Amino acid sequence: MHQMTLAEIARGLADKKFSSEELTRTLLARIAQLDPQLNSFISLTEDLALSQAKAADARRANGESGALLGAPIAHKDLFCTQGIRTSCGSKMLDNFKAPYDATVVAKLAAAGTVTLGKTNMDEFAMGSGNESSYYGVARNPWNLEHVPGGSSGGSAAAVAARLLPAATGTDTGGSIRQPAALTNLTGLKPTYGRVSRWGMIAYASSLDQGGPLARTAEDCALLLQGMAGFDPQDSTSIDEPVPDYAAGLGASIRGLRIGVPKEYFGAGLDPRIAELIQASIKELEKLGAIVKEISLPNMQHAIPAYYVIAPAEASSNLSRFDGVRFGYRCENPKDLTDLYKRSRGEGFGAEVQRRILVGAYALSAGYYDAYYLQAQKIRRLIKNDFMAAFNEVDLILGPTTPNPAWKIGAKSSDPVAAYLEDVYTITANLAGLPGLSMPAGFVDGLPVGVQLLAPYFQEGRLLNVAHQYQLNTDWHTRTPEGF
Ligand code: GLN
Repeated sequence: MHQMTLAEIARGLADKKFSSEELTRTLLARIAQLDPQLNSFISLTEDLALSQAKAADARRANGESGALLGAPIAHKDLFCTQGIRTSCGSKMLDNFKAPYDATVVAKLAAAGTVTLGKTNMDEFAMGSGNESSYYGVARNPWNLEHVPGGSSGGSAAAVAARLLPAATGTDTGGSIRQPAALTNLTGLKPTYGRVSRWGMIAYASSLDQGGPLARTAEDCALLLQGMAGFDPQDSTSIDEPVPDYAAGLGASIRGLRIGVPKEYFGAGLDPRIAELIQASIKELEKLGAIVKEISLPNMQHAIPAYYVIAPAEASSNLSRFDGVRFGYRCENPKDLTDLYKRSRGEGFGAEVQRRILVGAYALSAGYYDAYYLQAQKIRRLIKNDFMAAFNEVDLILGPTTPNPAWKIGAKSSDPVAAYLEDVYTITANLAGLPGLSMPAGFVDGLPVGVQLLAPYFQEGRLLNVAHQYQLNTDWHTRTPEGF
């Protein structure tokens, strides 16, 4: 039962082959048995899951239908869930029970999903290996010694290990696409503004975007359908109609123009990954796509710009966690300053503190022009590069990551080494564009992802191209041994 995709579950439930309650009980038992090896969950919500499953079964018995009605999922632990711990992977929020549901959580619940729990993540979504979590690293089911990617590492590990068919994630600089790549999943970061950020604990507000992680593009389409749409409570949400993503999956890709940036294949890319990317290009050419070389000339400035802008926004967003209004409070403060200092010093981990310091520095008088303003200018240049490229091509293709999943601890002493892993993903966030990662093969038994980027609001195009690719390849069907 645990091998089923969301689409197969929807058919099984519609055909009354099993109930949502049966499926939910099976998956909860599987999580209890296997998650101790993976640490992919921060909290399990068995009671909520069983009551949602029973309610979904009752709705189906009353004649209701819907692809997500009775479908088990989990939420990254930065989506607020009413009455349930929402920790953001931090000691700061270890005892925080959200007073309301995030829009994404509420929309999915209304569509009938069953929440099995809250998944592990890098603290405040800062990281690429799930190693900064207060709750410990999540492990990659393809090799338990390796990271599952981050920051949505728990969602990725759980779905890859078949503990559940799909989960939510968020992507500020790659945190859906990168863990999807490192665990052999399909993950989609939507256009900025496509999915509501209301109730999603902010890291860098101008970059953050929620999206689906699943095994197939088809399942991402189903989950995105339940997440996307205008939300008046999020002032950056965009009032654009949501297409029927699943209905768009049949289109031929004959004549589709795919651009491959020459800058993607420089030093730093594992040559074995480069080969797999070339193989995926050939596959798409066989399906009728027309591939040409393009250029994104400002790509080399993306990491420095991102690692100014994201920490700058984070330093501002995280100022609310002061031990008074929100978050952990230290014991016996001697005065107000001591309370602030120790609550933040004890409540935040090292990576979060590093980013707050970098961000506050970049925003301070005298340095603002030299760092923050420069980074914003680069951001515009990067966006302009994409706009020019999309005048020539319909889609951009390349690797999702320069390397496969690294060994746990291998980058702990060198934060910049981890930042460099984001080189292919962060440009989409800086420009606000949608991006998808899908399985493209293996290196040393570890999964490799290929990334597709599209113009604004062309999530449907990304999903369809990935679906056509998955109809003709079987990388996405491979299951990690022991799971
Ligand atoms: N790895 C990037 C960072 O650490 C991206 C994280 C994310 O997308 N949340 O900022």
